[in-house]
Amino acid sequence: MELKLYDTLAREKRPFAPLDWQDPSIPPEKKRVRMYVCGPTVYDFAHIGNARPVIVFDALVRLLRHLYGPEHVAYVRNITDVDDKINARAAEEYPDLPLNEAIRKVTEQTEKQFHEDVAALGCLPPTVEPRATEHIAEMKALIERLVASGHAYVADDHVLFHVPSMPDYGKLAKRSLDEMVAGARVEVAPYKRDPQDFVLWKPSKPGEPAWPSPAGIKTPGRPGWHIECSAMSWKHLGETFDIHGGGIDLVFPHHENEIAQSRSAFRTPAMAQFWMHNGFLQVEGEKMAKSLGNFVTIRELLRNWPGEVIRLNMLKTHYRQPIDWTTRGLVECRHAINGWANALEPHGLTSEEGAYAPPIEVMEALSDDINTAKALAAMHGMARASKAGDVKAAQHLAGAADFLGLQRSKWDAKLEAMIYKMGVDREFDAWVDGLISARNGARKAKDYAEADRIRDELAAMGVVLKDTKDGTTWEVAR
Ligand SMILES: [Zn+2]
Repeated sequence: MELKLYDTLAREKRPFAPLDWQDPSIPPEKKRVRMYVCGPTVYDFAHIGNARPVIVFDALVRLLRHLYGPEHVAYVRNITDVDDKINARAAEEYPDLPLNEAIRKVTEQTEKQFHEDVAALGCLPPTVEPRATEHIAEMKALIERLVASGHAYVADDHVLFHVPSMPDYGKLAKRSLDEMVAGARVEVAPYKRDPQDFVLWKPSKPGEPAWPSPAGIKTPGRPGWHIECSAMSWKHLGETFDIHGGGIDLVFPHHENEIAQSRSAFRTPAMAQFWMHNGFLQVEGEKMAKSLGNFVTIRELLRNWPGEVIRLNMLKTHYRQPIDWTTRGLVECRHAINGWANALEPHGLTSEEGAYAPPIEVMEALSDDINTAKALAAMHGMARASKAGDVKAAQHLAGAADFLGLQRSKWDAKLEAMIYKMGVDREFDAWVDGLISARNGARKAKDYAEADRIRDELAAMGVVLKDTKDGTTWEVAR
């Protein structure tokens, strides 16, 4: 089985061969597949858009651990715990505490929430989860190198990366110079030599987190955002590694700048051999934004849905495609998971951890650039065969559900409670009411086939309709 992955930088899908395996000087027991994924900035509950890279790269790391052995995969996902948003949040939430103490409270509690949330979504912990504030020394070492080699300069107590010093700049984002300059002009500062130059280090205002500055600057300061990922990936994975991942929104400027920093500091032709990005996520057909009132946190979703349902709703779309996150999608996923459980039941099977190996069909689909949609379609086929009495298919289904983190054992009890709860869930109510009025419309138009189809769709969700002279009522069968 050959693993193929899509590389954003090369704009192509190609076979994956980890660097350590190409280096005969590294003994077999020391070889590692090395992957870095940009993690959360810990200042508030993670939203469903933040969950996408965590789930997508969890699927990939499960596959890599399966293919190369769990001890041969190094998966690094950082925690950004120094940021203006964190400072603002800390001052707002704990106005009576010194800022540093308030910041520690905010980052500790947010990190804990994040861990709980992604664990509920079936995501396994990364091998290393480095914090930015614990890697200030590495950031300063990188900055010193960049200044010494002429890629960065000091101006007005800032250290800036000089973009024209990097001829390949812009290749990841494939942006023209004009576009990049236009984007940079919005925040152009007088001390920049070139409008594209970006901050590696900046002075701290009184009360803000501060460290002794590099490059001979007297004023204490703090790192820019981009330099932390170059420093943490270097420390834990080396100068060049296999996979760098994140959301598509990080391509520019964050990943473009990481490449500029790391390649210039180490004089290497590449920072990572594969750049992988998950697509955008929107909610009910609209861009998610606090101002639109459709800002959905993982925590809120977990109040109404089992984590495995949320996970399946994410994985059913190929990771590079945009996702439209809908309640309707969640309803369908609950139905699908319920269907798999029903298919396993006659064979007395559960998908306990490690009980059955994942089937070849599913592994082949995942090896083709994490084609989860194809893997899930194969699982639906196994469920049909299983219902028809095929024991082998049932075992394959159990193995696949276990491998993808969609085990029955996890959600079975919760699911029963959910079926009841969904009857009183407002979003679910709205969905059912919408279908009932569509059915009434179909009946009025004498389209009885469509009316029956809608009734069956509702029945599949456990919704029983009662037509009375006063209209249609419904209840959730238990
Ligand atoms: Zn990053």
